[in-house]
Amino acid sequence: SLAGKTAVITGSNSGIGLGIAWELARAGADVVLNSFSNSEEDHAHAAEIAKATGTKTRYIQADMSKGEQCRQLIKDAGKCDILVNNAGIQHVSPIPEFPVDKWDAIIAINMSSAFHTTAIALPMMRRAGWGRVINISSAHGLTASPFKAAYVAAKHGVIGLTKTTALETAQEHITANAICPGYVLTPIVEKQIPDTMKEYNMSREEVIQNVMLKRQPSKEFATTQQLGGTAVFLCSDAAAQITGTSISVDGGWTAL
Ligand code: NAD
Repeated sequence: SLAGKTAVITGSNSGIGLGIAWELARAGADVVLNSFSNSEEDHAHAAEIAKATGTKTRYIQADMSKGEQCRQLIKDAGKCDILVNNAGIQHVSPIPEFPVDKWDAIIAINMSSAFHTTAIALPMMRRAGWGRVINISSAHGLTASPFKAAYVAAKHGVIGLTKTTALETAQEHITANAICPGYVLTPIVEKQIPDTMKEYNMSREEVIQNVMLKRQPSKEFATTQQLGGTAVFLCSDAAAQITGTSISVDGGWTAL
């Protein structure tokens, strides 16, 4: 059980982050949810998880595009035994037209935020004598697609940061690993379906099977619960010697 442990999950008011929050809380951890929106719904998610799991789950607002706020999130949490760097955004464009502000935002939110949170969390983990760093990379941390330059660069970078974190903590009962999801049907992916249906004159099912799951051999989405389960496993004693590596949850994408 993860009772007595505190897990901080960046970008956890929807999708994969929220799924991981639920599974870690079900395993007994007190969870800190985060987003930059500070909405009623954000606070409601935390209250719902706390009520359903009996954990001290709460919400802290912080903008993961700002280094100082990333650091402040961990300080405000007060304790961080499990750090899940999950916040992420996407932008699709060829390199010559790729907007510089989008490049900077993706590198900041998808990669640099993990450096800032890790810098504050590691001394806390060292004091506790135990820790888990889980960085949410992507199949795009191991392979590329055209028009996703910033995302692919950031997700590859996260895997490099994960390996370095693992080496710096190797003898301290702290592990650092990346999870590399393939396609997961989160709100951000769901939102792309209607436009893609129009663009290709396809049905919803055709878009899912022929466009989205084209590179996912299982032809099924991974679920947020499955990613939560992977995070819980990485926090278990069975995973104590798993460090500096990445676990693909991608229906076979990277085997192709
Ligand atoms: P999502 O849009 O549902 O979640 C993104 C999260 O990031 C949200 O909680 C959002 O609030 C948060 N966020 C964005 N900008 C932020 C900021 N400036 N400050 C704080 N929080 C911010 O999408 P998701 O699919 O759940 O994505 C979660 C992670 O999983 C991302 O890192 C994404 O790259 C990765 N991922 C997703 C998929 C997929 O198919 N959905 C595949 C591989 C990797």
